[in-house]
Amino acid sequence: MSGAILYPGTFDPITNGHVDIVLRASHIFEKVIVAVAGGTSKQTYFSLKERVAMAKSALKGVANVEICGFNGLLADYVHQRKVRVILRGLRAVSDFEYEFQLATMNQILMPEVDTMFLTPAEKYTFISSTLVREIALLGGDVSAFVHPAVEKALKAKRR
Ligand code: ADP
Repeated sequence: MSGAILYPGTFDPITNGHVDIVLRASHIFEKVIVAVAGGTSKQTYFSLKERVAMAKSALKGVANVEICGFNGLLADYVHQRKVRVILRGLRAVSDFEYEFQLATMNQILMPEVDTMFLTPAEKYTFISSTLVREIALLGGDVSAFVHPAVEKALKAKRR
């Protein structure tokens, strides 16, 4: 498929599950724009700058991926980047309700833009940024869930 797809999210931090979704999309679309959200109501553990840097490390070497941070409304950023497709990941039924709500509201805000969902490999379906942060904060080993650069950043933040 041609064109670009934009993958928005908090990525606090980026996990192997997110990376799996990006890689899958990179085989379908010409370009995947990973858009790390800055100013949301969510209080983030890492700053926008840190989250962008970790995503860049985790996706280093993937030719058709661009990582950027954005502030403000997703709809405004989507228009600014002139993309027609938004990417989101679905891990389990529990993700569905929120994702469905978000996609429908975005469809009203941006009638010309569609949301596409991809599912990760089964081994990544249980990974969440929230649990990764909690395990890391308690000194647990998160190397099976995140890129080594993210693991390092989590360790540094804990200190
Ligand atoms: P947000 O705060 O926007 O939900 P997240 O960084 O938590 O941002 O997630 C971004 C997207 O990636 C969401 O669609 C989420 O469902 C998806 N996602 C999160 N973890 C995984 C995973 N392990 N596998 C596949 N998709 C995931």
